[in-house]
Amino acid sequence: MLVQIRVAVAKQGVDLGSYRRRVFETIRRYRLVEMGDVIYVAVSGGKDSCAALSLLKEYVEEYRVDAEVKALHINLGFGYSPKLEEIVKRQAEALGVELHVAYAKDYLDILAASKASGRPICSVCGAVKRYIMNKVPRELGATKVATGHHMYDFLAYYFKNLAGQNHQWNFKILPKVEGRGLLLTKIRPLIFARPEENEAYCKSKGLPVNEVCCEYGILPKVEGRGLLLTKIRPLIFARPEENEAYCKSKGLPVNEVCCEYGLCGAAHAEVVEMLRAARRRDPDFDLKLMRGVVDFNTRFRPAEEEPVKKCKICGEPTSGEVCTVCRLRSLLGAT
Ligand code: AMP
Ligand code: ZN
Repeated sequence: MLVQIRVAVAKQGVDLGSYRRRVFETIRRYRLVEMGDVIYVAVSGGKDSCAALSLLKEYVEEYRVDAEVKALHINLGFGYSPKLEEIVKRQAEALGVELHVAYAKDYLDILAASKASGRPICSVCGAVKRYIMNKVPRELGATKVATGHHMYDFLAYYFKNLAGQNHQWNFKILPKVEGRGLLLTKIRPLIFARPEENEAYCKSKGLPVNEVCCEYGILPKVEGRGLLLTKIRPLIFARPEENEAYCKSKGLPVNEVCCEYGLCGAAHAEVVEMLRAARRRDPDFDLKLMRGVVDFNTRFRPAEEEPVKKCKICGEPTSGEVCTVCRLRSLLGAT
């Protein structure tokens, strides 16, 4: 028993050979790269998208596929953005790929839109990123856009949607989502890869990567601007169990459920923890689960899809009459 558990733990280490074969097999099996493709990889400066860019380039070169791999970075206009742009430039240079940088401020003032709409910065930022990731590469002649989303991004999203009964969103968890109309085909070459594998891969190739996830998530204090209040996070260096023990020691009543579904965005880490626990018994449990989700979606995804409309203002794809970015822009009085 003890021996078995030890073997299982040892197997949780990173095997770069199996990782690379797994990513290449994903690209081949799901036809993520096809002849004549122009693929733009959306690179944030982090390890995951850097690994996606590098592995797609390696694949095209190794199998001599007649396809181009390029990079797209979105400068979000935050304090840390110039540093990220610099890292991405070094990544593109190291890999010998063409890089296009788009500036979010040319489409929307994220902070002002968040303030005017009351939507969290992350939600506005996500909307403008999705908008640019589809529009810009398409206008540059792309046939597909790739992201660095990894297995745990999808599994955390999966459980969250399952708990919230948003089953239709889970059908989008696939290595490739075919484009329709002005919507570009999306590919996710790292859907069966773990974040630590992406990290080890970038390290092994000596690729520069950013380690900070988002400045709005990690600073002890974010200064306010205009009507935006200054945010302070006094517990940034505290552990959740410490906060819990403290409240208990003071006899303070606390709620145990974080939201009605119990699995909001903040529960990402808990889902990862749950999967890590399951991997102690079966080191490939996470991979099997991911394969199961993709297999289910491939077999049972409904053929009928929501129609893609064109935004009345900018002409970009949307499910409603006006796209999210134009709606936010109109709140700011922009034309
Ligand atoms: P995230 O939503 O930050 O976890 O990022 C998911 C994926 O979106 C990354 O793996 C990248 O492919 C892409 N991405 C995120 N931020 C940017 C950015 N600023 N520029 C280009 N691509 C990005
Ligand atoms: Zn629009």
